[in-house]
This record gives sequence, C-alpha cells and structure tokens, in this order.
Amino acid sequence: MPTALHRLPVEHMTRQATQRSDGRHFDYYSFATARPRPATAAIEPEPIQTAPDRVRELRWHPLLETWNLVAGDRHLRPTMPEGCPFCPGGAEELESFAVAAFDNRFPALVADPGPQQSAAFPAARRPARGAAEVIVYSPVHEGRFATLSPDAVLRLVQVWADRERLAFGDPEVEFVFPFENRGEDAGNTLSHPHGQLFAFPFLPPRVQDKLDAARSFRERHHDCLMCAVQRMEATGARMLYAGQQVNVYVPDFARFPFETHVTLIAHGQRSLTLSDAAAREFAACLLAVSQALDNLFSQPMPGMMCLFPAPRQAGDDWHLHAEFLPLMRTAGRLKRLAAVESGTGAMVVDESPEVMAGTLAAVFPDLPWPEITVQRADD
Ligand SMILES: [Zn+2]
Ligand SMILES: [Zn+2]
Repeated sequence: MPTALHRLPVEHMTRQATQRSDGRHFDYYSFATARPRPATAAIEPEPIQTAPDRVRELRWHPLLETWNLVAGDRHLRPTMPEGCPFCPGGAEELESFAVAAFDNRFPALVADPGPQQSAAFPAARRPARGAAEVIVYSPVHEGRFATLSPDAVLRLVQVWADRERLAFGDPEVEFVFPFENRGEDAGNTLSHPHGQLFAFPFLPPRVQDKLDAARSFRERHHDCLMCAVQRMEATGARMLYAGQQVNVYVPDFARFPFETHVTLIAHGQRSLTLSDAAAREFAACLLAVSQALDNLFSQPMPGMMCLFPAPRQAGDDWHLHAEFLPLMRTAGRLKRLAAVESGTGAMVVDESPEVMAGTLAAVFPDLPWPEITVQRADD
C-alpha cells in the first residue's frame, strides 16, 4: 500500500499508512508547523490471515433487537503483557510517531471478515465488518490523558477526525466511536496513554436511542433536541464551562458519578472535523475535564471517555459530544453496575447532578490556552 499524505489544519498532520504481513494496518501520524514533503515509501500488503477456528461475527439479540459483537479470540488477550507493547522493542513494533493508529490484534470488528459461517438461523448472524483500532496518544510511556500537553490533545482531535473520515470510507460503516477505558477498573491493563476506536456496521442501542430521541423531538417541537439541551443547561447550576464553541456540564440526566458532557454548541457541528477554533476549545475542554476528574480524589479517575460524532444517517440534529463516565463515587468506592443497572438498563444515581457539578467546579482547572480563557468572560 503506498504511503498516503493527508494534511489537516492547526498543524500540518502527516499520515504514513503501512500494512503488516498479518494484514493489519498501522498508520503513523506526525505533525509539523511547516508543510511536509511527500514521502515515497511503499509496502506491498500480504493477504489478511484469518483464524477460521475463532468465531468473529455479529449475533442478533432478538429480545433487544440489536447485535452482539462476538470475538471468540479476545479471551486470549494478555491481561498483563510482559513489557509495554507500544514502547520501543514492544510487541507491536511501532515505528517513530507522534500519534499511532492501528488495527487491534484481537479485533471485534474487521475490514474484511471473510465469508459468513453457516448457521441454523442465518438471519441472526452478520459478518463483523468494520474496524477496531488502537490509538496510541504519545510515544512517551509515562502519563495518561490528563497529563498530555494541550498540543498533544489537539493533535489527537485531528487524528480522530482523520480516523472518522477514513472509517466512513467503508459504505457499511454506520457509526464511528473513539473511546478510552481508563484504569484497571474499566478493563484497561495497559498504562501507556492510548485509546481505541470502533467503526460499527450498525447503530449500537444507545446511539440508536439518541437518534430516535432527536427525530421524535424534531417532530413534536420543530427544534433540535441537542440545541434545546444546551439552552437548558446554560441556565442551570451544572455548567462547568460555557465557551464560545463548547459547553461543559454535568447534565440534568447524569447517570454515572460526576458524569460530564462536552458538547459542541453550533447546530450542525456533527463531525470531529472541526474549525481550528473549535478543535482547540474541544481539546482544551477534554483535557480540563480529565484533569478535574483526576483532581477529585487526588488519583487517576477510573472510567470511560466516549466520543459521539454523528452516525452516518443522522441529519443536522446532532452535535458532536463527549461523555465522561467515571466509576468512582467517593475515594476508593466504585460505582457497580448491579442488578438494576445491568438487568433493566435503568440507572440508580447516587448523588444529585447539582452536587456532582458543584464538587467538580471546585477542582475544574483553567483552560490551557489564554485566548480560550478570555472568551469565558463573555458568558
Ligand atoms: Zn509504553
Ligand atoms: Zn442543534
């Protein structure tokens, strides 16, 4: 596959696309203030190796009318691999990079899942087509998202936008989901700063629910639901940062302890491809929320960071947003998803969202770029 160059705003971003002999794609991003010269290296891809004895497919859940992602080899993942796979000499053998994005060694979704296995109920099976990527935020092993530099987070936003655009190049991809599991309590045993990305060939239930809610709200109120939520939160006590481009708030409908949303204000800003100003403010807010959550109990907050660019079939009634779903209620006490949460899907919320917001506001840092902080005085 020839090396491809793509440039995005803010800094000149270069993507070097490569493919390994096992079929996996490894893309290396670098950034420069000057426009880079095109490179010419090329790697011939070899056929993707498949493991027919491992089940990798989508299976229909008829009672919930959604798909499960079955990846029969993921139990083989090393829980505590020897040495860091992302550092020099590590198992993934990464080349020089600022940010690296590559196919997961144990993917739930793949670009070429091969022919479907025969089944008694073929309608309840689908090939697991899509993408499951690892995104390594930094070549430096030490640290975590909250300790990245503001520029590093801004670069990551640019990389997410590029991954979103590339993933939608597959016409079967319906939704692109960058996310990060933080801490062992969220199932992450690799400490090197990294996240993941899934490109789904269907709308996952919560995303479908959000889309349905937005459509229903439009029909009933002739308005955008996500605009209406921004107006509601702007008047309330749960707003942590009211910016020019981005709002940060504990929503009235928070379900997790200290759940915080980072939402683009502009109606129609559906995608991770942002203006320079919006990208900077979005990056600054993701960093500030991560730092605030870590400040709460003076330790890295376990939990999830989820990004929601618009699904392919969404109209303009969708705003790019991030949800931070922390797992720690008080120092050392974890929120467990027990019978009510896991069995019924209803969430028992252990603290009022107003108290959550007040607690977070006390530890919410200044945003890293002065021109963004100045804008804060406008509200
Ligand atoms: Zn490392
Ligand atoms: Zn809107």
